[in-house]
Amino acid sequence: RLEIKDLRRSFAGRTVVDGVSLQIMPGQVTCLLGPSGCGKSTTLRMIAGVEMQDSGTIHVDGKLICDTVFRIPPERREIGLMFQDFALFPHLSVADNVAFGLHGTKAEKRARVEELLARVDLLRFIDGYPHQLSGGEQQRVALARALAPKPRIMLMDEPFSGLDNRLRDGIRDETLSILKEEDTAVLLVTHEPDEAMRMADEIALMRDGRIVQQGAPYNVYTRPLDRAAVAFFSDAN
Ligand code: ATP
Ligand code: MG
Repeated sequence: RLEIKDLRRSFAGRTVVDGVSLQIMPGQVTCLLGPSGCGKSTTLRMIAGVEMQDSGTIHVDGKLICDTVFRIPPERREIGLMFQDFALFPHLSVADNVAFGLHGTKAEKRARVEELLARVDLLRFIDGYPHQLSGGEQQRVALARALAPKPRIMLMDEPFSGLDNRLRDGIRDETLSILKEEDTAVLLVTHEPDEAMRMADEIALMRDGRIVQQGAPYNVYTRPLDRAAVAFFSDAN
């Protein structure tokens, strides 16, 4: 369970994240949806621990991860990350990339790597290297790498943005089913209403650093807050 309370962050006197609070339960996907520049990625980066908040708290399963004085470093937060600017390690094989965050015996790791690569349909590349893969294939390996350690929390920032439509639907569905099976709490950032409608259990609509509306996709879509929300849902795609 991920709980963030009243997160705030400004850059050079401009408030970019202005009191964001969210709770995400295991097995639940919450989409942070909003126009470019509204503070989505900054919110995610603070939860990941790669950006420091000015105020507010973050708890995972009831345990304090970060406030303004106490801070668990990113690599010890057990939070999975799948960001827009993902990168595979070019000098490691596909198998070693996916195994990167795994613990256990060699055989255990290999089994988990095979399982994940089969699910993203890339088992045939297991002993290949990133430069031998297309961009979309690399993205699927990055996804397998993020999912491999079974993180309790998964943060995803436009993870499907570089993929063509045909590929995207399949990968979205597969990702969703892996995350649900493993009961992960997911916070997914997107500026595409379609993607949010398709993947979310809950949508948090963000504007100017704040969550202005939150609820089940159907409710947010059919009962928009105001004309700006209507415009956003109709224009954005
Ligand atoms: P997009 O949909 O385009 O990815 P976003 O909602 O993810 O947008 P953020 O990346 O969170 O937006 O950025 C919010 C605002 O904060 C932007 O105006 C951005 O320029 C600013 N910002 C983010 N990081 C920094 C930084 N390190 N220094 C200064 N300004 C920043
Ligand atoms: Mg962003």
